[in-house]
Amino acid sequence: MKTFVINLEKCNGCYACQLACKDETVGNQWLPYSEPQPKTGHFWLKMTEKVHGQVPKVRVEYRPEMCRHCEEAPCMEAAPEAVYCRPDGLVIVDPEKARGQRQLVDACPYGAIWWNDELEVPQKCTGCAHLVDEGKLPHCVDACPTDALLFGEEEELAAMVAQDQGAFAIDGTKPRVHYVNPFGLFISGEVWDPEADLIIEGATVTLEGPDGAVQTAATDGFGDFWFRHLDEGTYRMSIEADGFQGVQKTIELTESVNIGDFPLQKA
Ligand code: SF4
Ligand code: SF4
Repeated sequence: MKTFVINLEKCNGCYACQLACKDETVGNQWLPYSEPQPKTGHFWLKMTEKVHGQVPKVRVEYRPEMCRHCEEAPCMEAAPEAVYCRPDGLVIVDPEKARGQRQLVDACPYGAIWWNDELEVPQKCTGCAHLVDEGKLPHCVDACPTDALLFGEEEELAAMVAQDQGAFAIDGTKPRVHYVNPFGLFISGEVWDPEADLIIEGATVTLEGPDGAVQTAATDGFGDFWFRHLDEGTYRMSIEADGFQGVQKTIELTESVNIGDFPLQKA
């Protein structure tokens, strides 16, 4: 069985995968797997962006979204005569048998099926089944310059697949597209000395998480500190530096946050 792994830590948001998908399918008929993707309105692979934090401490999270080639596919349940799973695990909406079945668009809980008005057919990522048949990689995977997109046999990618914590999986679908190293949330800030009007480098910032786990960070040459890959919850933070009075703060984390400047008073 084939599987996709999307390593979010490696994705730099270059959009090469989205363009490669368009390049492969717009104006190209790949029967028996797909009619051409329309020039506009469809994104069989769609990049999503989420901005985390507040200026000046901002990071953008990029995530390629596409059909998850579900093992338990709601689209297949909705139209078993028109949607099938190949022996290699790729889920195909048969363009002939699915003609006129607009309800399939709503059958996909991931929003991965698009309606082609002109041809009156529901369409989606085929995993570039026509290329896979020739022993090639899906075009998006081939085009990714950072190896953020991987495609191969489940056994070959087992170690990566095992890292999938199900962050973007919907219960009861068993996706074959695995997202690993999700961005998570961050807490950042800056520590400075108001008397000298200078940042403090090397201050120790300690963060206790909702599960009691403790991590520490040292402020860098800009006085900045970062804690990444956090979950939602209540965090207790303390900041200490030699010769200064320490400070404590409690943070209810629901979104990534730049908690701003921390002035430390001389001890
Ligand atoms: S992601 Fe949607 S279209 Fe793809 S297999 Fe699952 S239910 Fe079907
Ligand atoms: S091609 Fe690779 S690095 Fe570029 S946006 Fe797509 S997944 Fe990310």
